[in-house]
Amino acid sequence: MVLNVQKLPSTAPKTVSILGSTGSIGTSTVDLLLRNPDKFNVVALSGNSNVDLLAKQARALDAEYVCVADAENYQPLKEALSGTNIEIGAGPNAILEAAQRQADWVMASIVGSAGLAPTLEAVKRGACIGLANKESLVCAGDLMMGCVTQHGATLLPVDSEHNAIFQVLDFDRPEGIEKITLTASGGPFRTFSKDQMQTVTPQQAVAHPNWSMGAKISVDSASMMNKGLELIEAYHLFPVEEENIDILVHPQSVIHSMVSYVDGSVLAQLGSPDMRTPIAYTLAWPERMEAPSPKLNLAEIAQLNFERPDLERFPCLRLARESLQQGKSAPAVLNAANEEAVSSFLEGLIGFLDIPAVVEEVLERFEHQNLETIEDVLHVDKKARIFARQSIEKKCQ
Ligand code: NAD
Ligand code: MG
Repeated sequence: MVLNVQKLPSTAPKTVSILGSTGSIGTSTVDLLLRNPDKFNVVALSGNSNVDLLAKQARALDAEYVCVADAENYQPLKEALSGTNIEIGAGPNAILEAAQRQADWVMASIVGSAGLAPTLEAVKRGACIGLANKESLVCAGDLMMGCVTQHGATLLPVDSEHNAIFQVLDFDRPEGIEKITLTASGGPFRTFSKDQMQTVTPQQAVAHPNWSMGAKISVDSASMMNKGLELIEAYHLFPVEEENIDILVHPQSVIHSMVSYVDGSVLAQLGSPDMRTPIAYTLAWPERMEAPSPKLNLAEIAQLNFERPDLERFPCLRLARESLQQGKSAPAVLNAANEEAVSSFLEGLIGFLDIPAVVEEVLERFEHQNLETIEDVLHVDKKARIFARQSIEKKCQ
């Protein structure tokens, strides 16, 4: 599938909204906006429970509309924004409204499949979207890419690997592409044996060696499910088949991904591991803007290393590839089961190695079906979570 590359009008300032402004990607985006007050006007910001931070961001950026997913936070948000003209909303429909409001550019940085419906609202009005929320492509890739084409929306990948590929892939001549290679840091347990992984704690899992990220994606990086989700994300974003998407462990996280061409050329994008670089790329696209990320110093880094991923120690990677090969509802089931398993691991209910075990059990139990509509996706997501919770309960006994 070819990415819809379409130019924005270059009239400044650009109007922007952030779905999930209080998270790791959201706060990095806010940081870039605050450094460039003349270039952007903020339309909407959304969060879930961190009302204080959301209100602070809304005041600093003079947002037009601010909302929280959790309806119970309406009153606290109202109080935190008293004395301003900022409009306030709460509940799931308020998040949809944040996406629907006219903004040239929308950052989709809600975590998990909760980001699917709001991201689709921005797609439906043909917006330019900085897509961080990979789970929406994993669970509804075909439907989402269909909507992008139908509504003339533009998806700009924020995920560092996909952003790298976006920067070096020749979209006009896909026949010259041989394969793409997604690099992976290998996470905090890259050198751990399975025995060692048996007893790792949530604190160890979220302590990523190179990147500072939200808790869910940090655990996904530790299990390498993150790379599995990224494999599926890449399949939907770029004109390459599943068998032509390679994964390569590269512990320094300097090369963010590569495209190999039929003539033997390999084009890569490099940078320090700071998400403000890919976010800035999507914010300014098709131009470039300054980002405060540390400049890359290759002489200081001196060495770049590479290893093959170990599918035995990191079964999530195998499960993700198999679910992409299986198609139908399998990737949506993989994603939902993983979200439930990761949240139970973070709560201390199950062990780290129970994450792939839960995902595999749910995938095996599920009778996979075609996903024709978003309602089908949401139904499968819900059912897979029920199966996952049953599997988790058994492991807790
Ligand atoms: P995070 O947990 O730090 O932030 C998540 C945001 O989503 C918060 O603003 C939270 O309030 C909001 N949110 C959570 N549940 C919600 C719900 N049910 N409804 C509405 N809003 C909700 O996560 P993050 O690390 O910023 O990651 C966000 C997305 O970006 C994920 O899909 C992740 O895979 C992707 N991503 C993150 C990074 C990174 O460096 N953090 C890199 C690449 C991709
Ligand atoms: Mg990534």
